[in-house]
Amino acid sequence: MLIGPPGSGKGTQAVRIAERLSIPHISTGDVLRAAVRAKSPLGRRVADRIAAGALVSDALVTELVRERLAAGDATRGFVLDGFPRTRLQAEALDTMVLPSSLIVVLIEVADEAIVRRLSTRRVCDACAITQSVSEDASADKEACPYCGGTLIRRADDDPETVRRRLETYAEETGPVVEFYRGRPRFASIDGLRHVDRVTAALQAYLETARVRS
Ligand code: AMP
Repeated sequence: MLIGPPGSGKGTQAVRIAERLSIPHISTGDVLRAAVRAKSPLGRRVADRIAAGALVSDALVTELVRERLAAGDATRGFVLDGFPRTRLQAEALDTMVLPSSLIVVLIEVADEAIVRRLSTRRVCDACAITQSVSEDASADKEACPYCGGTLIRRADDDPETVRRRLETYAEETGPVVEFYRGRPRFASIDGLRHVDRVTAALQAYLETARVRS
């Protein structure tokens, strides 16, 4: 499980770790955004809250994760990204998996760096790769250097919404960090380094934590 503020790089790291270990990457943010794009009943329920940078209800997201973890491909392990985000969600997760089997890594990045990072974060509307653009780039006009698609700024990445998401993170997810901090397989790593160095630190920790299981 990767915990970290929005923009800490946990999504990027989660994709890398999931690929290396050949296990599914489960991102509640991705699932919810896909539902919003598809305008499904779930998407219609959560669209406003996501756009405002507020959390969706514990019951809803917990049920999503419960169903996802029950799928066959999650039996060998999974990378959880964006869940749990509240103490209640963390308590619910302990009823879905063996608590001692969880490896929890907190990716730490200071708030000022997050606001800077997210103002230049874009997601390609074609290949979905997340990347960073120069500070004077427009919110939705640059071309993706990988596939030629269009780079779009996430609606909730505008600076004001980012500040609200950081407040929510401190209030709601701070207690989640405390919930796990005392566990033997908890670590925090510095996320303000080159992305490859963060991956290396994460992998090194996973090796030791898996041996310790
Ligand atoms: P993320 O991509 O993880 O930053 O999530 C984007 C948005 O989806 C969040 O700002 C919330 O509105 C919603 N969301 C994702 N995961 C959760 C969760 N575990 N609990 C509540 N809301 C969530």
